[in-house]
Amino acid sequence: MLGGGQLARMLALEGIPLGHRFTVLEPAPDPPAGAVSEVVAAAYDDAEGLARMAAASDVITCEFENVPARSAAYLAARLPALPPPAALEVAQDRLAEKEMFRELGIPTAPFGRIDSPADIEDALAVSGLPAVFKTRRLGYDGKGQVVVRSRGDAARAREKLAGPLIAESFVAFERELSVLAVAGRDGSRVFYPLTENHHAHGILRVSYAPAPGLDPELQAEGERIAGLLLGRLNYCGVLAIELFEAGGRLLANEMAPRVHNSGHWTLDGANASQFENHIRAVTDLPLARPQVSGPAAMVNIIGELPDPRAVAGVPGAHLHLYGKAARPGRKLGHVNLTGRDAAEVMDGVARVWELLPGAALPPRPTGW
Ligand code: AMP
Repeated sequence: MLGGGQLARMLALEGIPLGHRFTVLEPAPDPPAGAVSEVVAAAYDDAEGLARMAAASDVITCEFENVPARSAAYLAARLPALPPPAALEVAQDRLAEKEMFRELGIPTAPFGRIDSPADIEDALAVSGLPAVFKTRRLGYDGKGQVVVRSRGDAARAREKLAGPLIAESFVAFERELSVLAVAGRDGSRVFYPLTENHHAHGILRVSYAPAPGLDPELQAEGERIAGLLLGRLNYCGVLAIELFEAGGRLLANEMAPRVHNSGHWTLDGANASQFENHIRAVTDLPLARPQVSGPAAMVNIIGELPDPRAVAGVPGAHLHLYGKAARPGRKLGHVNLTGRDAAEVMDGVARVWELLPGAALPPRPTGW
């Protein structure tokens, strides 16, 4: 696996029972996946590190999309590299990604490109105000984006963000959802129920699944959007798509060609997790059809570790820690909550929330 963070750790934890062994390429010391895999400690473009990965592996996958294109090409020329490098490349560039959505007829917020200050007026003519300016590359967890309410804001945002941008309309969404799709090497496909996501400062805080009040038509539309992308990208593995629900419609915001934070609830809330299904997909095992027997929630642990004894003592709480040192804004773990009904799950969320630093009350789901 390229990357040795928490996603790689959870992939390995779910792949080991299937009989696999893992090696991760990771430049940072003491990575989370090190507890459950061999580590090749090298940069993602290090020739010797890549050669060691190729020699050690039967199949290559990744836990993040910002793999250098040349590294992905080197590996893909030697062994199966899944998802295909072209999917990583398009996900590295917000403009390429949004243009692909548009080509496929997938609804998005109106957007325009800003390569130089001279493009600002044209882009605003498409997006209108308010708008969101986003860097084309390397934006994540709300980094690299600014809300623009006036022309003065626009000039300041362009200076602050630097580099090529996109400007898109600010969407007054009812809620944020995501769909997780899985494609097997044989073309088979399965989908998880849409998940409702609550962010603070651009970072996911809480997910509720299946999305409260999820209507089958909305689920079908989410699956249709995901299916178009799986087909276009000749995809294999888990693909996550972040969506806005606005006026009863789904708009695609962005995609992640990997397992996704909004799917962590599947570790305890579904018969087979996103991690297991990703490993099944890339190792050519039959996919597990997701079955969900009740509501679930996921609460991220960010910046500071709670007392694990207290969290583990909350009924229905499943603690997942990533073995990372605490640092402000850093994802250190998550807690999944399961229960017989929504009230029980919400009760668990409230009790876990009290054990975490920060806001007094957890974000409420739209339904339940
Ligand atoms: P992103 O980096 O594109 O996933 O954006 C991070 C978060 O910013 C999203 O989850 C939304 O909460 C918010 N956001 C992004 N784009 C828009 C938009 N066009 N309109 C309103 N909110 C947005």
